[in-house]
Amino acid sequence: MTKDFDDQTNDEEVLQLDDFCEECKKEDPSVSQNLILTGFKTCNSCKLSKTIFPI
Ligand SMILES: [Zn+2]
Repeated sequence: MTKDFDDQTNDEEVLQLDDFCEECKKEDPSVSQNLILTGFKTCNSCKLSKTIFPI
């Protein structure tokens, strides 16, 4: 086992799913979950408003 992989991750930025809602531009953990579930990058509050008032 080597520690090379651990050292490399420190040098480069780790790719992550960002949790910024496309509707309100706020960061929320529910955004990535809703992206997987619904295909839309929306937080729970925006998702709820879309469900009630579909555009
Ligand atoms: Zn939102």
